[in-house]
Amino acid sequence: MPEPSAESLFPDSPSENEGVTNDPVGYARVALERGIDAAEGGFTYAVPAALGDLRVGERVTVPLGRGNRPAAGIVVERMGEAHASIKTVKPISARQRGSVSLPDDLVELARWIAAYYHCPLGMVFAGMLPAAVKHGTGTRSREQVRAVASGGDASRPEPSKLQRAVLDAAGSEGRWWDAKALADAAGAKSVSPVRQLVEKGWLETQRTEAVVSDLDLRAQRAVAPTRPPELTPAQAEAVSRLAGSLDAGFGVHLLHGVTGSGKTEVYLRVIDSLLHRDETSAPLPGVIVLVPEIALTPQTVGRFLARFPGGGVAVLHSGLTAAQRHAQWRRIRDGEARVVVGARSAVFAPLPKVGLIVVDEEHESSYKQDQLPRYHARDVAIRRAQRAGCPVVLGSATPSLESWHNAACDRANLVTLPDRVPGATLPDVELVDLAEERRERRGVHLLSRRLEALLQQNLDAGGQAILLLNRRGYANYLACPDHRCGWMMRCHHCDVTMVYHRDLGPASGGGVTRCHHCDAEQVLATACPECGRKVSVFGLGTQKVQAELERKFPGARLARMDADSMRTARDYQQTLDAFAAGQTDILLGTQMIAKGLDVPNVRLVGVVSGDTSLNFPDFRASERTFQLIAQVAGRAGRGEHRGRVVVQTFNPDDPAIRRAADHDYVGFAEEEIATRQAAGLPPVGRMARIVLRDTDPAANLRRATRLGHAGRGRGG
Ligand code: ADP
Ligand code: ZN
Ligand code: ZN
Repeated sequence: MPEPSAESLFPDSPSENEGVTNDPVGYARVALERGIDAAEGGFTYAVPAALGDLRVGERVTVPLGRGNRPAAGIVVERMGEAHASIKTVKPISARQRGSVSLPDDLVELARWIAAYYHCPLGMVFAGMLPAAVKHGTGTRSREQVRAVASGGDASRPEPSKLQRAVLDAAGSEGRWWDAKALADAAGAKSVSPVRQLVEKGWLETQRTEAVVSDLDLRAQRAVAPTRPPELTPAQAEAVSRLAGSLDAGFGVHLLHGVTGSGKTEVYLRVIDSLLHRDETSAPLPGVIVLVPEIALTPQTVGRFLARFPGGGVAVLHSGLTAAQRHAQWRRIRDGEARVVVGARSAVFAPLPKVGLIVVDEEHESSYKQDQLPRYHARDVAIRRAQRAGCPVVLGSATPSLESWHNAACDRANLVTLPDRVPGATLPDVELVDLAEERRERRGVHLLSRRLEALLQQNLDAGGQAILLLNRRGYANYLACPDHRCGWMMRCHHCDVTMVYHRDLGPASGGGVTRCHHCDAEQVLATACPECGRKVSVFGLGTQKVQAELERKFPGARLARMDADSMRTARDYQQTLDAFAAGQTDILLGTQMIAKGLDVPNVRLVGVVSGDTSLNFPDFRASERTFQLIAQVAGRAGRGEHRGRVVVQTFNPDDPAIRRAADHDYVGFAEEEIATRQAAGLPPVGRMARIVLRDTDPAANLRRATRLGHAGRGRGG
């Protein structure tokens, strides 16, 4: 896209664009959604008299460039005078259809995001506003009728008997009706008597714009309204501290509660207490609850709907149609829904006033948006709460080290739920050493004898099981094909198993192996150094595991959940619903099954390879490994049956895996933070990624090198 030059935006002679006025009533800065940015965040336009009441946050159309192409933007500032250096400015063309506007605090938040994440301001706005809102999807104008106030025209024709019934139904209180609803209320078969009454002058009409959506949240209620459980002492303490902070202005609270400790119940109580506070001034404060997209199941939404009936809950997630999303957005902006439950982008929910923000599963990496505008929803939530002067609650069984470090440094207030709710206990976690298993059996088996035996036992007892295999870190290993030898390629420095990368090899082909702990690379061994046999590559994959399960447990009802088998949000829902309803014995899947599932009959969880996320080349690999194992283990033993967890691993001595097996988050966090500190890594140090792109690799390398030198020079 061509960058507009200063001349083309601000021509010497006023443009002859329609609606031009030589007499602006003021000026405004407008941030253009196309991502073109001026240094101060937006371009100056004149405000014509017809748009004199234009406010900050409104979406407008402005002429852009020499051709005055219409462009959309958001008003970010109103000014009495244009900047002195600007002689002539073009006028704003119009308000955008449907008069979309953002609350003031979101405009300020957008400025912060633009500065902090280095993104043009207009693009931040473009990302904040759902496309459906911008396009007005689902907006319908509809006609309504009501009885003309008494004393109408004396000469109007008398109504017929049927028409009289319609008039009676319409009532005299001035209520507006949809024609169809009124006809139904009067027992009429069609709307013709209503139309006839309008013609005769007994009914008057009005046109309104409304967003029509077929989302019936009440129909989604998967959980019947139940009496809230009696809080455990730890929950009661947490509720009292968090609810007590509602009047104390901004504060970050980290709710660290083991899986199944009743964190959601704590959120519900704190929200309830906010909704029932005596408010002296409008608008009433609302709540944003962020949950990972994948956890936005009918189960979760159902719990909020059941607790806050009466239409006060709005949901925002990717499974909505455009019109539904638009309708939800309007309800939030118009103050109809005070509780917003949504995924990442719901942090931008246009509540007129924010009184509390909850970020559930705050450690989730899906809160980070990896495309423009880039942002981390947890950090944006903290910033928004700060601007709104309200508390933000970050909840997790496995907090991000960033949040944990903040609590340790008193930047966040730590609230703990140390135990599971009554009737549930944390499961026993056993580690199975796959290398040993390999030595003792012929070749590589995806299921260890221990896991296989427990699966059989569990099936016999009527329990359900979850098997996790993390595809994201799908790894291939090099090993001697002879099981009696048992050799595997390991790192010389760390002794962890090397991961085979076909794509990293020299141009001659063949690939290399890499240690995902220290990044050391070794050329491929072709022969086993112990016995001289030709080495083989083996990998683990969900499809292979599925095949093995089908072979071993022919009678079991299996479901597989991964990016290949699940294409739409509906696929997830159906698979999860069937599992929750007890129609599936074994659910096999990638990390998408590790989250949020609360199914009491899950008595066994198996982690096919605990190493796969360890093998990921990222400084957070240990943290992710710990989280994944702890979270998936958390799905077991939520009911009356004690849960068991089996973690298969080639690295049973890895500290992240050991600590996860021991349910020792604090021990893990302290050790890992010390390691990060020693290496200058976040959360103790800071880190930025700079991506350079160029069609000329040599030029790109030169620039990168210069940048590297400059960076080191400054860092000392
Ligand atoms: P978490 O979010 O910490 O994993 P949840 O809030 O989902 O835990 O609670 C797990 C289960 O325990 C839910 O089914 C919930 O209804 C139930 N629960 C929560 N608090 C209590 C309590 N005080 N007594 C009994 N059951 C509870
Ligand atoms: Zn190594
Ligand atoms: Zn060998």
